[in-house]
Amino acid sequence: MPTDRRSAGRLSAVTSIDVYKNAYAAAGADGSTHVAPAPVDPAGSTSKALLLLGRGSDPDSERGVDCPGELPPASDPDLVERARAAKAALGDQVFILGHHYQRDEVIQFADVTGDSFKLARDAAARPEADYIVFCGVHFMAESADILAAPHQRVLLPDLAAGCSMADMARDFQVLDCWDALVDAGIAEQTVPVTYMNSSAAIKAFTGEHGGLVCTSSNAERALRWAFDQHPGGAGKVLFLPDQHLGRNTAVRQLGLSLDDCVVYNPLKPNGGLTAQELRDARMILWRGHCSVHGRFTAAQVAAVRERVPGVQVLVHPECTYEVVSAADLVGSTEYIIRTIEAAPAGSAWAIGTELNLVRRLAEAHPDKTITFLESTVCYCATMNRIDLPHLVRCLEALVRGEVVNEIIVEPTVAAHARLALDRMLALPELPPVTTPTA
Ligand code: SF4
Repeated sequence: MPTDRRSAGRLSAVTSIDVYKNAYAAAGADGSTHVAPAPVDPAGSTSKALLLLGRGSDPDSERGVDCPGELPPASDPDLVERARAAKAALGDQVFILGHHYQRDEVIQFADVTGDSFKLARDAAARPEADYIVFCGVHFMAESADILAAPHQRVLLPDLAAGCSMADMARDFQVLDCWDALVDAGIAEQTVPVTYMNSSAAIKAFTGEHGGLVCTSSNAERALRWAFDQHPGGAGKVLFLPDQHLGRNTAVRQLGLSLDDCVVYNPLKPNGGLTAQELRDARMILWRGHCSVHGRFTAAQVAAVRERVPGVQVLVHPECTYEVVSAADLVGSTEYIIRTIEAAPAGSAWAIGTELNLVRRLAEAHPDKTITFLESTVCYCATMNRIDLPHLVRCLEALVRGEVVNEIIVEPTVAAHARLALDRMLALPELPPVTTPTA
C-alpha cells in the first residue's frame, strides 16, 4: 500500500473539522491512537464527543469520524418546537436541504428535498442564505460547498454521516489504479467518470484527468461523452466508485457487453487484473457498491412477483445487474418519484431503493399499492445519523452565532472537482420524462 500517498494526502478534500484534525495530528498520522477531542464550549464547560463510533478511524473517511459537541437528549419532548423556533429565528439566513433518504423527523424541516445534485444546485440558487444546513451525507455537503457562493457556509448536522460507497474509493487507491493504467499503456485513452456519490478528492482527480461527474439520472449521457473523447472505439472509461451503476449503464443503455467490463479491486495488486485484461476492457469498473441497494437480489424480485399479483418492480440503478435485469423499470430517485406520481390508481409497485423514500411514497399515494422490495433491507445507516437532536444542535448554535460542523473543501481540490462538475453541467439536457420507460 502506498503509504507515501496516504500520508501526503495529495488529493485530500479537507473539511474544517479543526478540533478533530488537530487531535488527529497530535495522535499520529495513522490515526491509530486517536482520542476524540474535548472541545471547550462557549460557556466554558468541557463537553464530550457525541459519538464513540469511529474512534481511531481515518478522519478523511466519509464516515466513522467523531462528532464533537453536546446533543440535546433525544427524549426531550420540545425538540420539534426547538427546531421550529430556531429555524424561525434564523429566517432567510438559513436554508435546509433534505435528501430523499432522510428521516421524517428531519425532512419536515427541509426547505427543499431532492437528490444530492439537485440539492447542491438549489443551495447555490439561494445566495441570500448564509448558512446551508445539509441533511444528507458528507459527500453531498462537499458538493454543496463546491457549488455554493463564496459567502455561503455549509453545515452537516452530524459529522459521522458519511457514505460507505464513497469510502470505497480513496484518493491514494485511485492514483494507484491510474498508475496501473499507465503501465498497461491505456491511460491516455481512458476517461475517468465518477458518480456524484464520491468524495471531493475523487471528483478532483476526475476533473484533473479530463473526466466528469455523473448522477444516476445522466450516467448514460456522461458515458457517451466520455467515449466520444476518443472516437473510433479506442476510448475506455474508468468508472468510480459504483460498479453497478457503471455496468448497468454501459450494458443496458450503451449496448456494451458484460465481457467489455472488468472490475478493478483496489485491495488487490494491479486491481486483481492483468495488463492485457485492462487493455481488452472498454469499461473499467471500480469495485464499489451501495450498502443499501447492493442488498436487493433477483430472488427478491421473483418473490414479490409471487406475493403481489400484477406488481411492477421499480429499482434504482445502484442495484446489481441481475436485479435491474429482473425489474420492470429502472431509474434514479427522482425518476422513481415521478413514475409513482404518474402511475394510475390501483396499480401495484414494489420499489427497490432506500426505505424512508419508499415509505413516504406509500403514504403519499394511498390509492396505489406500494411495497418495499424486500423487508429485510435496512435504512441507510449513515443517512439516518442525521436526527432531530443533531439538527436542533446545529440550528440553535447558529442562533447563538456559532457555526458547528462546517464542511469546507480545500480550494485546489474544489477547483479541480468543479471542472468535473462543470463538464457534467455542460452535457446536453434530455427532455423531461413524463411517461415511465424501462
Ligand atoms: S444509500 Fe448508499 S450511496 Fe446513498 S448514502 Fe447510503 S450508502 Fe451511500
